[in-house]
Amino acid sequence: MAKEPVKTKELPAALRNANFSEVVLGYSEEEALSEASRCLQCKDPRCISGCPVGINIKKFIKQITEKDFSGAYFTIREKNNFPCICGRVCPAEYQCRKACVLTKKDSVFASPQAINIHFLERFTGDFGMNNK
Ligand code: SF4
Repeated sequence: MAKEPVKTKELPAALRNANFSEVVLGYSEEEALSEASRCLQCKDPRCISGCPVGINIKKFIKQITEKDFSGAYFTIREKNNFPCICGRVCPAEYQCRKACVLTKKDSVFASPQAINIHFLERFTGDFGMNNK
């Protein structure tokens, strides 16, 4: 049976009016590994053609599964200097995730089953920033 997508957690509503922390929390290492393991490593990775800057998504996700987070970070940096930002604000629903083979055909936006590429990018970007 196919693994379910790893959902992100959100800061509880009761805490949001008391600080300026992010509401959507990023993946933990365990969550990133689990989500990355869902990638099919397609022969023809459509996700890459869905990325406006052509990040080698297949490769950086594979590096995450191998716990090579530095390698994943530098793979993204070959094409994009701002993985922390893009992992948070890129409209992945109609770019890389929409192009992912796990999105249903003729869908206007990405299907829920599509790999959460943006959250994996955010995890990798934050790893790079925290391990300079
Ligand atoms: S299209 Fe989706 S499943 Fe295939 S390599 Fe890209 S992210 Fe992985």
